[in-house]
Amino acid sequence: MKAVRIESPGQIHLVDAPVPVPPPGFARIKVKAAAICATDLEVIDGRIPANYPLIPGHEWSGIVDCVGSKEDSAWIGKAVIGSNDVVCLTCDACRSGNWRYCSQFEEIGFKRDGAYAEYMIVPVYGLCEKPDHVPFEEAALNEPLGVALGTMEKAGARFGETLTIIGAGSIGLCMLAVGKAMGMRRIAVIASSRKRLSIAKQMGAHTVIATSEQNPEQLIPEIHPGGSDLVIDATGIEACIQTALRLARKGGTVMLAGYGRGKQMSIRMDDIHINNLRVIGAGNNWNQHKKAMGLIADGVIDVHLMVSQRITLDEFEKGIELVRSRPEGFVKAVFIHE
Ligand SMILES: [Zn+2]
Ligand SMILES: [Zn+2]
Repeated sequence: MKAVRIESPGQIHLVDAPVPVPPPGFARIKVKAAAICATDLEVIDGRIPANYPLIPGHEWSGIVDCVGSKEDSAWIGKAVIGSNDVVCLTCDACRSGNWRYCSQFEEIGFKRDGAYAEYMIVPVYGLCEKPDHVPFEEAALNEPLGVALGTMEKAGARFGETLTIIGAGSIGLCMLAVGKAMGMRRIAVIASSRKRLSIAKQMGAHTVIATSEQNPEQLIPEIHPGGSDLVIDATGIEACIQTALRLARKGGTVMLAGYGRGKQMSIRMDDIHINNLRVIGAGNNWNQHKKAMGLIADGVIDVHLMVSQRITLDEFEKGIELVRSRPEGFVKAVFIHE
């Protein structure tokens, strides 16, 4: 099969790989759509723990092609999305639903081969059916949408609260979509430049702020007097996290939803202490695939504007370059297999 494989950090090629065979409890997926995530760039560049050689890709949808156990054969032929979490299902963490804390946790697209290929192997216990009316490319975005759902859940976000999102990439935009669907108010999206904000505006942001031209610390108090109820950092960048802590209202909540790339960062403790902020880490998709799929399928959340570019595996370099350069209006490049 065709696959895009990272041999070692910085070395990524289109290769002819063997079609994988699912072990018991796993299914082979004929990938129909796989989105390139900014996190994949970290894997490609070697800034995130991964097992090389590796086929990356954790945002996918497809059709179950075969299964490793006879009792799972009802899945064959079904259009699906699924969890990337490979876990034991029996430890205390798994039994409490916290798969990410499983001592044997391995994530597809990082520790195990992922979706930049014609076929991939995923656990049957994480599968979820995709309704026919949802395009495969939109279904693949259940993954970043799930990150946003988990973040809002951890934040305890509520109807009528004000929300500021820093970052207008796919995670930031998913936060916007979820915040709007939840009835959050006066949602502001902040990004470095205006060209990154056009989709946020189209997706219904109340205010967009480009830090290249505008000062969010001056503008946010004008629309959220006293500060925002909830501030989400979706960048993992030090200066953005420092800003997030200053934009929240006293007693407000700051969610850290961006990958910090292993960096040490400095923050002003008093911004948290004096203002009694709740600062909460919100990494990863927390078993939200099924809920995300349901919200897309029922039209509660519309992700179609996020699919900016459709490519083939042969065009992987072009896709990766787009994710790196993020031209105006670009959010996601998605591998599409007919
Ligand atoms: Zn992702
Ligand atoms: Zn476990």
